[in-house]
Amino acid sequence: MTCLPGIGPKRSAALAAAGYHDLGSLLWHLPQRYEDRRSVSGPSAVTGEGRFAVVGRVTGLRTIRLRRRRLVMVQGRLEDDTGGLPVVWFNRPWAERQLPPGRDYLLFGKVRCGRSGLEMVNPTCEPADRALEGGSVVPVYAPLAGLGPASVRKLLRRAVEALDLPHGLADLLPERLLEQHELPPLGEAFDHLHRPDETSDLDALNDGSSRAHARLVYGEMLDQQLEVRMARAARERIEKAHHYRIDRALRRRLLDLPPFRLTAAQTRALDEILDDLAAPRPMLRLLQGDVASGKTVVAALALMAAVEAGLQGAVMAPTELLAEQHFQGLSRLLGDRCRLALLTGSAAAAAADRRLLARGEIDLAVGTQALIQEAVRFRRLGLAVIDEQHRFGVGQRRRLQRKGTAPDLLIMTATPIPRSLALTVYGDLSLSVIDELPPGRTPIVTRVVPVTERAKVYAWLRKRLAKGGQAYIVFPLIDDSRHLEAGSIARLGKDVQRRLGGVATAVLHGRTPADEREEVMRAFAGGEIGVLIATTVIEVGVDVPGATTMVIESAERFGLAQLHQLRGRVGRGGARSFCVAIHGDRTEIAERRLERFAATTDGFQLADADLELRGPGELLGTRQTGRPAFRVADLVRDRHWIESARRDAGRLLRSAPGAVEPLLARLATQQPPGRLPFAGG
Ligand code: ADP
Ligand code: MG
Repeated sequence: MTCLPGIGPKRSAALAAAGYHDLGSLLWHLPQRYEDRRSVSGPSAVTGEGRFAVVGRVTGLRTIRLRRRRLVMVQGRLEDDTGGLPVVWFNRPWAERQLPPGRDYLLFGKVRCGRSGLEMVNPTCEPADRALEGGSVVPVYAPLAGLGPASVRKLLRRAVEALDLPHGLADLLPERLLEQHELPPLGEAFDHLHRPDETSDLDALNDGSSRAHARLVYGEMLDQQLEVRMARAARERIEKAHHYRIDRALRRRLLDLPPFRLTAAQTRALDEILDDLAAPRPMLRLLQGDVASGKTVVAALALMAAVEAGLQGAVMAPTELLAEQHFQGLSRLLGDRCRLALLTGSAAAAAADRRLLARGEIDLAVGTQALIQEAVRFRRLGLAVIDEQHRFGVGQRRRLQRKGTAPDLLIMTATPIPRSLALTVYGDLSLSVIDELPPGRTPIVTRVVPVTERAKVYAWLRKRLAKGGQAYIVFPLIDDSRHLEAGSIARLGKDVQRRLGGVATAVLHGRTPADEREEVMRAFAGGEIGVLIATTVIEVGVDVPGATTMVIESAERFGLAQLHQLRGRVGRGGARSFCVAIHGDRTEIAERRLERFAATTDGFQLADADLELRGPGELLGTRQTGRPAFRVADLVRDRHWIESARRDAGRLLRSAPGAVEPLLARLATQQPPGRLPFAGG
C-alpha cells in the first residue's frame, strides 16, 4: 500500500533512509522558514529595499563565471507589462535551468540597492500558478530524499491532509499539562506549522517562538527529562560490589593530608562524594568548579578513601601533560600512603605497571586514554575519576567503568555549565559545585589589545620579567594541522625570544616528545625557564604558581571557554597576575567575546555569555555526549522550558510511574498508537 500519491517504493525507501518511516514522523520535517506572499505584486511595484514576492516573466537569463573569484553569477530580469526588475543569483549555477521561458514565476527574496539600482538577490522561485496553492503564508522546506522544496511542501500538505489534522492526531500529553503551559495539542501544533493561515504571526513562526513550536519544544524536553530519570532509576537498582566505612576518623585523616585547609565549598563537595561512596549504589557525580578552584585536591582525597578501603583508583585525563601533572600532584599528596603508576601511551614501563595493576599491587593508576585499552586490567577498581569530561565521549566513560564491577565514578569539569544546561545534558549525574576559590588569590587583570600594539606588549613583558615572575605565551593551533604545528610554533618562538632578549624560553606543542615535555615543565615549575611558549597543550589543568603573566596571541581565534581556561593558568599564587589578549582582525562575535572576557573572570558568567554568543553545542561538546540532538528545541533559545520540563517529569513519575514507560516509548516518535506507514503496511 502506498498511502500517499506520488510516493512509490523508491521514494519511500529514500524517506526511510532519511529517518522518516511514516506520515507521523514526516511531520517533524518542519519548514526552515516562512515566506510572506500575502501581498504579491508586479516588478514595478518594488520601489525600495526589502523583502518582496513578485510575479512576472524571467527574461535575458545569462550565466557568468568569474574564474578568479570562483564565482558563478546568474543574471536576468523579472518583467511584466508594467515594468521590470533586475535579478541576480550568486553561486546557484542551476538557476538558469530552473527557469525555462514561457511561463510566469513567483520570485521571493530580498531587494537591495546595487550599483545599477534596485535588484533582487538570490530569490527563491516557483511557477506562479503553483506557488500560491494552499495559502499565502508559505512554508519553505529543506530538500528531502531527492525532493526539492516545492515538492516537499506538497508532500507535507498531503501528509497533513491524510492524517486529518488537527483532530486526527491525538496528543499523548496529559491535558492538564497542556492547559497549564497554554500549549496547543500536538495535532493543532503540526497543522499550524505546516499549514499556517493568513492570520499567522510570521515573526513568531520564523524565529521559532510560536506556541506551536513551544508545544514541540516542551514535548522534546519532557521526553528527555523522563528518559534521563528512568536511566537514573535503572542505575540505582545496581548494587556496588564493595563497601566503604566512612567515619569521622577517616574524614579527619583525609582533611589532614593537604598542606592547607579546604575551603567550605571543597569540604561540602568532599562530603557529598564520601556519602556517595558509602551508599550501596555506584556514584555518578559531576564535580564542577572554576579553573583552579581546587577540584583535583577533592578528587585526590576521595581516591585516598578508596585506597583505604582496599580498592584501586583510576584518574583519566585528556592529555599526557595533564596526566603527568596529576600523577605528580597525587604523588606529592598521597605518595607516602599508596602506590601510584602513570599509564600514558609513551610511558616505557607500561607493561610492567600493567602487570602490577592487574595484581592489585598498584593502588592508583593515572593516565590518558591509555587507561581504557584492552590490556589494562584492575584487580579491584573502586573509584574512577575523569578529568575534563567534555574532552571524552560517553563511550570512553563506559569503557573506564567496565574496568571494574560497578565502580564509583567522579567526573571533573572546569567548563562551567549553567545549571539549566547541566540538568539537560548531564541530567543523569549528581552535581557538586565548588563555587569559591581558595583564599589568597588576587584577581587577574585582563587587557585586550590589537595586534598593532604587539611591540608595546612585549616591551612591557620584558620589563615585567626583569623584575621576576614567569609568563606563558600561547598561540592558537596554526592551520589546524598537527604536522605544521611544530615548525610554526618554533618560528614564533624564535621571534618571541628575540623580542624578549635574554630571558630563558622554551617551546611546547602537541608533538613535543613526552620526556622532553616533562623536562620543560619541570624546569618551568622550578623557575629555570622564564617564558613558556606553547600551543593550547597547556590549556587544561597546568599548575605553576610562579607564572603570573599570560599572553594570548591571535586571541580572536579562541572560544570563550578556551580563553578562560588559558587565563586560569595564572593567578595561582599570591602575586598580582596579568592576562593580555592580542587580537588581529575580528568578527563582530569575536569582538563581543573578547569584551566579555575582559569584563569578568567569573566562569559562570562567561559560560552564560558563551551560550548566548555561540550556542551550547560547541560549549559542551554535546555531539560527544552521545545524546540525540533535539529536533526542534534549541537549548539556548528554549532554555526557559528546561526547568518546567524537569519539574513535570518528576511529578509524572511520582504520580503515575507505570504510565511513563509506554508514554515515553511513544513520545519518542510522537506517534499515535497504530502507525501510518507510507507503503508496504
Ligand atoms: P583545579 O583542579 O580545580 O583546577 P587544583 O586542585 O589544581 O584546582 O588547585 C589549584 C591550586 O590551588 C593548586 O596549587 C592547589 O594546591 C591549590 N589549592 C587547592 N585548594 C586549596 C585550598 N583550599 N587552599 C589553598 N590552596 C589550595
Ligand atoms: Mg584542574
